[in-house]
Formats: sequence, C-alpha cells, structure tokens
Amino acid sequence: MVGGGIAGYCAALAARRDRADVTVVARAPGATALYAGGMEIVDDLESVLRSSHHPLARLGMDAVGLAAELDAAISALQLALGKEGLKFEGAWRSRGLYADIHGIARPASVVPESVAPGELGALSGKRVAVIGVPEVGDYDAASTAQALKELHGVEAFAEDISIPDLPQGASLTDLYGRRAPSPRARGAAIAYPPGFTNLPADGFELLASPPSPHGWRLQQAISLGLVHAEITSFETARGRVTAARSAARTFRADALVLATGRHIGGGLRAARVTTEPLLGLGVFQDGLPAASAGTRMHHLQYLDPAEEMRLGVMTDKRLHPLNEDGAVPFTNVYAAGAMLGGYDYAGPCGFGVPILTGWLAGRFAARQE
Ligand SMILES: Cc1cc2nc3c(=O)[nH]c(=O)nc-3n(C[C@H](O)[C@H](O)[C@H](O)COP(=O)(O)OP(=O)(O)OC[C@H]3O[C@@H](n4cnc5c(N)ncnc54)[C@H](O)[C@@H]3O)c2cc1C
Repeated sequence: MVGGGIAGYCAALAARRDRADVTVVARAPGATALYAGGMEIVDDLESVLRSSHHPLARLGMDAVGLAAELDAAISALQLALGKEGLKFEGAWRSRGLYADIHGIARPASVVPESVAPGELGALSGKRVAVIGVPEVGDYDAASTAQALKELHGVEAFAEDISIPDLPQGASLTDLYGRRAPSPRARGAAIAYPPGFTNLPADGFELLASPPSPHGWRLQQAISLGLVHAEITSFETARGRVTAARSAARTFRADALVLATGRHIGGGLRAARVTTEPLLGLGVFQDGLPAASAGTRMHHLQYLDPAEEMRLGVMTDKRLHPLNEDGAVPFTNVYAAGAMLGGYDYAGPCGFGVPILTGWLAGRFAARQE
C-alpha cells in the first residue's frame, strides 16, 4: 500500500483480513491528519448511484451491495481503531450535527467518543458550559457560546479557566495532551476546545479547524507499523507493477494499492493541468481527461473553486485506475481514497469514499481480482 491516510489504512485492514502480507509505505501525514473530527460517510446512496462518475457508482454495485460493504468496512474500522485506543461512535446510516470551535454546525456520521455527547440535537435547550482558556489567543469561548445559543438553541455560557503555565497568546495546539480542567459550573454539559485528555463524564470536545487534534490522534492511531519512505518510482513488467522504489529500499509486491490522496497527500499535482505524478495515470473531470478541458477548467475553477476538487483518477469496477485513454495500464494496481475524482472531496462522502474504496481495494488486491 502506498499511502498512510485513512484509505491506505482501510486497504491494509481488508487485505490482512484476507491473509495478505501487507506493507504500508507513507512519506508523511496527509489530509486525514487535518479532518475536523467528524467522519462524513455518505448522505444518500441513491443519489450517489445516479451520479455516473462518482467513485462509488463506478463500482457497479447496487445500493444494497454498497450498504453491506459499508457496514463491513465501518465496523472493521471502528474495531481496529478501538484496539488502538481511539473509540468512535455512530453509524454510516445516521447523521448528527456537531459544533466546531466557532459554534458552526457540521454534519457527521461517525465521531470520536469524546465528540459524540456534543451532538447538537441532543443539547438543544440544555445548559452547556463552554470552556475558555484566557491565555489562548486563537479561540474565544464567549463567541462560541453565543453562536451555540443563537444558531442552535443551546443554553450555552462561557467559563474561562486559566492555565497559568501557558504564555499569553498561546495557541489551541498548546492544549494538546493536557488534562481537562474542571469548571465551577454544575449541572451543565461541558464543551471543551479539542485536544484535552481525561474529560469529565459530562464533557465533550468541539470539532477542530486545522491543525486538528482529532486528526492528529487519528493519524497517530493509523500510523503504527507503517514504513516511512517516499515512493519515487516503480518496476513494471508485462502490464504489472512488480516493485515500488524509494531512495533507500525496493518494496517487491504481487499487488499495489495506491492511496496517495489529493493535493495535500501528494497523490495529485496541481499545475496548469493536474497530473498523477507516480504512474502517470489519467486525471479526469466529469469523465473527460483533464488535459482535454483546456481553458474550460480554468473558467470553471474561477466560477467555483470546488471544481478543482472534483478532478481525479478514475477506476473500473475493480478499482483498477485508468490511463487517459480509458484503458487499464496495470492489472495488479488498485486506486483508493481522495485521489479518486468525480465527487465533492470536502462534501458528504469526505471519509466515505476513502474508507469504502480503501476497504475494497485492499480486498481486490489481496485476491488479485
Ligand atoms: C482541512 C481538511 C478537513 C477535512 N475535514 C473533514 C471532515 O471533518 N470530515 C470528513 O469526512 N472529511 C474531511 N476531509 C476530507 C478527508 O480528510 C479526506 O478525504 C481523507 O482524509 C483522505 O484520505 P486519503 O487516505 O485518501 O488521503 P491522505 O490522508 O491525504 O493520505 C495520503 C497519503 O499518501 C502518502 N503519499 C502520497 N504520495 C506518496 C509517495 N510518493 N510515497 C509515499 N507516500 C505517499 C501521503 O504521505 C499520505 O500519507 C477534510 C479534508 C481537509 C483537507
């Protein structure tokens, strides 16, 4: 597996379940380490299936088949993360709303157990103490409490607790790993900025903006056992990849899962024409090679920057990536995660696509389907 994000992790889980001997190689944390703290999986499977370029629609499964695979993938992921000490709650079939550090609601289906009690529907009409730390300069509990009140009908109020060993103007990241301070307020739920440990029974964490303590914890949990190296080239023979090379090592393999992410991970390289830098795979926009879009792509991006985010690699039903003319260049290579195009990367399948395509790519690779 090339890629140390959530897609590479799910691919490794599935392949090991099929008794494959797996090596995960990654050069650095990618987008997974930045997620806000709530996994969006999929909002409406039927509408996903109606959009012909969506990576989940391209798998050629019906809604029942996809639902069964999602059940298996999400429960295997929750089990594996739980074993690493990171417990998650929720299910892909249900969605809740969770507030971030500014009090803005974000939808999510699967969330860390430390975030789950902050579901906004459950807090409506309840008293919530929002903990502020006066030494921290990039977060204001009073305005978060105000937003929770005005936007979500939560009876929120701010309570500042000083942490004297922090310098004035400290940042939220300085709270990471510290024990949660106890508030004076009684009889209220307690909203903490993310990063503290040992939350009291009625405490929960708000979602983050990057850099994200939730993302960092997840990245650490999924990084155990991976090999740190940058893959720079491959050995190929008769339409198959036989080895991946880094500066110091050659990794021989019968199959390869490419889960190198998008621009942050490094799986796609943005330029005048976006490219896939490792294997020169095709990059598509709405089913057409990005290179053929010419200036149209630039106009679309000008009107809506999210257009760039729907560019990506396209696959066949078995997640073999295609080259620009639509053919499968390597029969033992599988692609997964945010490098795939055809969906809104920052939208309702933010984690759903990497988890499910990772899970299936790992299985297809182990079985060489
Ligand atoms: C700021 C931000 C916030 C987000 N928040 C949310 C959210 O709250 N909820 C949600 O559902 N989704 C969210 N998303 C989307 C979600 O985080 C991503 O879709 C998902 O994490 C992508 O996972 P991935 O494994 O495909 O890629 P990545 O996590 O980017 O992993 C790619 C991996 O490939 C490795 N790699 C790349 N090239 C090489 C190479 N040549 N050699 C070795 N390794 C290589 C990278 O080092 C990295 O380890 C967010 C995205 C961003 C950017």
